[in-house]
Amino acid sequence: MNAKQLPHVVIIGAGFAGLTAAKKLRNVPVRITLVDKNNYHLFQPLLYQVAIAGLVPSQIAYPLRTIFRKQQNLTFQMGEVTSIDFASRFVKLNGSVIAYDYLVLAVGGETNFFGMDSVKDNGFQLKDIESAVNIRNHLLKMFENASREADAEKRKTMLTFVVVGGGPTGVETAGALAELISHVMRKEYPTLDIRDSRVILLEATDALIASYPDELRKATHRLLSRKNVEVMFNAKLVEYNGQRVTLADGEEIRSNTLIWTAGVKAAGITSQLGVQVAGSGRVRSEATLQLAEHPEVYVVGDAAYHEDGNGQPLPMLSTVAIQQGDVAAKNIQRSIKGLNQKPFHYKDPGLLATIGRNAAVARIWGLSFSGFVAWAIWVVLHIYRIIGFRNRLVVMINWAWDYFFYDNQVRLITRE
Ligand SMILES: Cc1cc2nc3c(=O)[nH]c(=O)nc-3n(C[C@H](O)[C@H](O)[C@H](O)COP(=O)(O)OP(=O)(O)OC[C@H]3O[C@@H](n4cnc5c(N)ncnc54)[C@H](O)[C@@H]3O)c2cc1C
Repeated sequence: MNAKQLPHVVIIGAGFAGLTAAKKLRNVPVRITLVDKNNYHLFQPLLYQVAIAGLVPSQIAYPLRTIFRKQQNLTFQMGEVTSIDFASRFVKLNGSVIAYDYLVLAVGGETNFFGMDSVKDNGFQLKDIESAVNIRNHLLKMFENASREADAEKRKTMLTFVVVGGGPTGVETAGALAELISHVMRKEYPTLDIRDSRVILLEATDALIASYPDELRKATHRLLSRKNVEVMFNAKLVEYNGQRVTLADGEEIRSNTLIWTAGVKAAGITSQLGVQVAGSGRVRSEATLQLAEHPEVYVVGDAAYHEDGNGQPLPMLSTVAIQQGDVAAKNIQRSIKGLNQKPFHYKDPGLLATIGRNAAVARIWGLSFSGFVAWAIWVVLHIYRIIGFRNRLVVMINWAWDYFFYDNQVRLITRE
């Protein structure tokens, strides 16, 4: 068959879900067009390392054209999809249109500020390379500014760092930031009294990393406290004006830095598609990952809403996205062969979150670990999951250096 006559699969989004689907279709008789607004795949779980000056962006992102250099049935097109015509089966981007036979919608998520404009305008989010570099520049600038500030109150405000959200991202960011201060900044700014600096983690409920078993939640709290992170439970943020955090009970915290990690929702485009959405704007699809009215469309990853066996929404995690990308690709293949579609069932590989040096929590094969063993598993797994041998090697060397010399290498303040 002429290549042009092969079914055309358009994949929107080259995150974990889209990338997996594209790779799985490598040997299937289809033409693939992979579309992403960025020209790279981003390993979001390590974004916080960019924010705390541990890694540079190119170590956690990889060019898509390099990833797919050898995949002959795939073309990459950089561009932001602005609309989809499900009836006529085409997507619009960069002023042009691409027709499809099958569509994989894998657009991921974006930060959810829950309508709190003061946080959106004055706080920082951690969702892409730009936001992580913004945080890094700001954190380093706060130390520069504090080092020449004579007013003690202003200095304390500059050196108070508030992280909002006691999920894995908030816990990882707060722990790593506390270590940056105690291991590196303390040496770099000898004239500053490091006791002026605080890292505060605000959690609206009474528990950290809610989806983890109780013993690991307690271990997380203990490990964070050891690193001098002040955890405030039942602390509901209502406003942040860039100088002052205001909580629902009226308490105020003076701080020039607020990092918001407390919410994610489906990417913006999902609200304009005229399809059924559930909580956090995630698109409802069938158990087979297809849209009910348009079976040639598969929705996967953070953008998709599915429930587990207990009726709970599946978490917005890379593991869910990867497994869904895999099943969508297999179902496309089955559809081409005229076979029945297979439903998606999530196989939970366990939970893993790091709190810093020698400190992590893990739940694997029904067993809970915390401390050094969990941290060692975390390090090995994350190095293994980064794309590209060179990146793996560089990250490994970087982390080993930081580990032995108590250093963070990337302390550059760059222009925005
Ligand atoms: C800071 C942070 C830490 C995390 N830590 C972990 C962790 O430790 N473990 C874990 O399992 N998960 C973690 N996650 C969650 C995990 O990254 C997501 O669940 C996963 O990325 C979802 O994969 P996805 O393919 O659905 O979307 P994404 O990986 O977000 O990819 C979506 C892609 O779609 C593209 N896109 C979006 N809209 C358009 C458009 N209109 N046109 C063209 N392209 C578009 C984007 O550029 C992006 O490349 C973390 C997330 C963050 C932000």
